[in-house]
Amino acid sequence: MTFKDLNLIEPILEALREENYTSPTPIQEKAIPILLEGKDLLGCAQTGTGKTAAFSIPIIQRLYLSHKPAKRQEIKALVLTPTRELAIQVEENMAAYSRHTPIKHTVIYGGVPQKRQTNILRNGVDILVATPGRLLDLIQQGFISLKHIEYFVLDEADRMLDMGFVHDIKRIIPMLPKKRQTLFFSATMPKTIARLADSMLNQPEKVEVTPASSTVDTIDQSIYFLDKKDKNDLLLDLLKDKTMESILVFARTKHGSNKIVKVLNAAKIKAEAIHGNKSQNARQLALNNFKAGSTRVLVATDIAARGIDVDSLSHVINYELPNVPETYVHRIGRTGRAGRTGIAISFCEREELPYLKDIHKVIKKTIPVVSDHDYVDEALERHAASGDIGKAKGPKPGAKPGRRPGAKPSQGKKPQQGRNPRKPQSNNKPRRDSNREN
Ligand code: AMP
Repeated sequence: MTFKDLNLIEPILEALREENYTSPTPIQEKAIPILLEGKDLLGCAQTGTGKTAAFSIPIIQRLYLSHKPAKRQEIKALVLTPTRELAIQVEENMAAYSRHTPIKHTVIYGGVPQKRQTNILRNGVDILVATPGRLLDLIQQGFISLKHIEYFVLDEADRMLDMGFVHDIKRIIPMLPKKRQTLFFSATMPKTIARLADSMLNQPEKVEVTPASSTVDTIDQSIYFLDKKDKNDLLLDLLKDKTMESILVFARTKHGSNKIVKVLNAAKIKAEAIHGNKSQNARQLALNNFKAGSTRVLVATDIAARGIDVDSLSHVINYELPNVPETYVHRIGRTGRAGRTGIAISFCEREELPYLKDIHKVIKKTIPVVSDHDYVDEALERHAASGDIGKAKGPKPGAKPGRRPGAKPSQGKKPQQGRNPRKPQSNNKPRRDSNREN
């Protein structure tokens, strides 16, 4: 199937050619025809599946075909996203796909002065991409009216709720015209999300591309068992591999991500952190440097990393495992996007074993273990293997012969056996609050 088969108009086809999109992804194939017909859509899809284009292209096409120049306050399409980074990226995609049309678009988000945003709004836009807080703020100040909305997209609804935006959303929905086309996207579909979707959608068509709990098949996943204190050394070792070009490292806390950046910088590895304590400008700058390739490693917390869309991201490293297993799926979905292969490496220390077990349950497979590295905690590895955690047998298909990344020549440190005689405290799980940055 080609984009032409989806009956897209030439200005959009031209833009897609310029983006080097050769064929639609499964969600695009399924969602675009439904949306072009004007139906509501309930989409269950992870990032990395091409869902942004799946909702942006039909909106641009329909606006183009009925186009009247945008009047002040007559916003026709609203896309709500949970984070600023995601909002910016959605708008970048909108800009790319609509570049041969007269459709006007802008993005608004908090944490920066509003003047630039309100100036653009004053000139009139067709499509508005927004985070909930700033949207409500500008509505209250009279800069925005939602009275003319014809297309409403709620993107990453599960994250929206996780981040506590439910009240904002419930305030926004009644401001929208009843007659509208609604598109609702979520990577996971627990009951609360399904109920919210139900309250907003009108006889929606359902599209599901990857079941929420499965991980993208093209991603090569592996796990390293080690002691917590060895994580920095292993990370530095792994990064000696120059084929690791653009690496997103996940840490659980803001403080933790700053510490990792310090360690990397001290080893002359260009790294930057993005998390909620950084100003919006600092975060955007770090993201731009990473996209441009001048920063090799970006260290992020889960919240800050939402929606990061970097085409050439080669590796995701989970310096710490997330305590919410679905977050693992979200994290590794940052690599291996839209059919490309990616590599996801996870570090697991004793305390994190329960998280790993939860992750295996959610992804319905066991992540292969890498043992031939200098920091292996063999006792932990044996313990993990004695549970339902399997061990990779021999090198993985396609693996180069010789050392795995992170393994040192034999004069290196000896694997330490029998450390940590403590029993893992699998029934003593920390609170499940990884979506809050601490
Ligand atoms: P998304 O799931 O919307 O975050 O998109 C993931 C990545 O896939 C983005 O970098 C898009 O630019 C890219 N992408 C989306 N659709 C296609 C396509 N049909 N062909 C190639 N790349 C695509």
